Amino acid sequence: MNTAFHEMPISQPMAEILGRLGLETPKPIQEKTIPLLMEGKNVVGQAQTGSGKTLAFAIPILERINVMNKAPQALVLVPTRELAVQIQQVFSSISLDPKNIRSVSIYGGASKENQRRLMQSGSQILVATPGRLLDFMQEGRIRLDQVKTVILDEADRMFEMGFIVDVKRILSRLQPKVQVGLFSATLPPAIRQVIQAYVP
Ligand code: AMP
Repeated sequence: MNTAFHEMPISQPMAEILGRLGLETPKPIQEKTIPLLMEGKNVVGQAQTGSGKTLAFAIPILERINVMNKAPQALVLVPTRELAVQIQQVFSSISLDPKNIRSVSIYGGASKENQRRLMQSGSQILVATPGRLLDFMQEGRIRLDQVKTVILDEADRMFEMGFIVDVKRILSRLQPKVQVGLFSATLPPAIRQVIQAYVP
């Protein structure tokens, strides 16, 4: 018999939200990584699209947000606009407190104005493509000093698309003790090097 979500180290309200969405049993990547991320540990997950990796990091991030603090506390870096939008929707769909826990997707090829407004209205979770996030950082629009968790999602695709320098630049601006989760379908040498440097 598989473990159920309500037997995992997550809150009862979160298990109930998942149950209402028809999600009763964690997928293997969720069973392995949720307990570690809940404890604040770093995680490397080799996971394909469709494996359930989004909830593997979205659940612990939502559980660990301090609702009293409106500054960004979690950052998810992704390769594409489509993925940014999709992941932000997952955060919205399982939010424990939608009024007080806010997430925003930040990506290039769209007007900055709306993204800026959502950020400034107090989003604790940023789901971003590296280029647009760096733009906002360089304009002094985003403070990342209270980010406790950073997720590199589809890291291999991000690096294939040439974002490695941007990603390293963003990581170097975060607190040294930030929790890092890296999810990737493959682990080529460039990714292993980032793991060695940033995921001790
Ligand atoms: P992802 O790999 O994160 O893109 O997720 C792929 C699909 O799996 C999404 O449609 C999720 O809703 C679904 N999914 C994620 N976790 C579970 C679960 N524990 N049980 C059933 N479906 C799930």
